Amino acid sequence: MDLTERYANLHVSRHPLVAHKLALLRDQTTEPKKFRELVRELSWLLGYEAMADLSTRPISVETPLERMVGAELEPKVGLIPVLRAGLGMVDAMLELMPSAEVWHIGLYRDERSLKPVEYYNKLPDAATVQVCLILDPMLATGGSSSATVDILKHWGAARIKQVSLIAAPEGIATLSAAHPDVDIHVGAVDRALNERGYIVPGLGDAGDRQFGTFAGPSSEPGHDPEDETAEVVRRLQRNLAGDV
Ligand code: URA
Repeated sequence: MDLTERYANLHVSRHPLVAHKLALLRDQTTEPKKFRELVRELSWLLGYEAMADLSTRPISVETPLERMVGAELEPKVGLIPVLRAGLGMVDAMLELMPSAEVWHIGLYRDERSLKPVEYYNKLPDAATVQVCLILDPMLATGGSSSATVDILKHWGAARIKQVSLIAAPEGIATLSAAHPDVDIHVGAVDRALNERGYIVPGLGDAGDRQFGTFAGPSSEPGHDPEDETAEVVRRLQRNLAGDV
């Protein structure tokens, strides 16, 4: 089923360049340098689409020939990369919007429960931006994103969008149920989460593939298929089924 029919807040790119670059990104032989380039290029393309509805105000511009009315982006934009994999999306977004503010919120996913735990948050008391873009290459369970949105809403952000390269249906369901007002912009929606919390077919661990950290223990999805991770994924899948 086309999930955009079920979730009005879901936007899946139809751009052929996105499809082409995603296939290269997923390929297991794509090395970290190329992988980072592709994350950057895809972020650029998806960011461009995600910001298509931002408002502008008229400004006066003097061209070499005459004065005219141009446009200036109205809202202040904040970028919130989900650490660590979201860091690779920041530069592309800053190329699009050099005056955007970058705010870091550190959440890690407990390996067993897959629940987000906050470990870093230096947001000032009141929101300094109107639109926030949460950047996370993989929208997997939706737990980190929902928790980040909770924090940003409490901060006073007027509008929040999630930008991800690949999403799992379970993550879309979780985030949409908790925050139906949050637009979700993705390059592709994959089949499912597996019992270890990875998106399949996916691309593996987006952090490890960007930063070349294949030797250490995985920081994101759980390790043991027999542990609670599998039960959490089954619960998310039951939620998704009940959502139809
Ligand atoms: N995070 C990743 O990096 N990959 C997945 O498949 C799921 C979460």
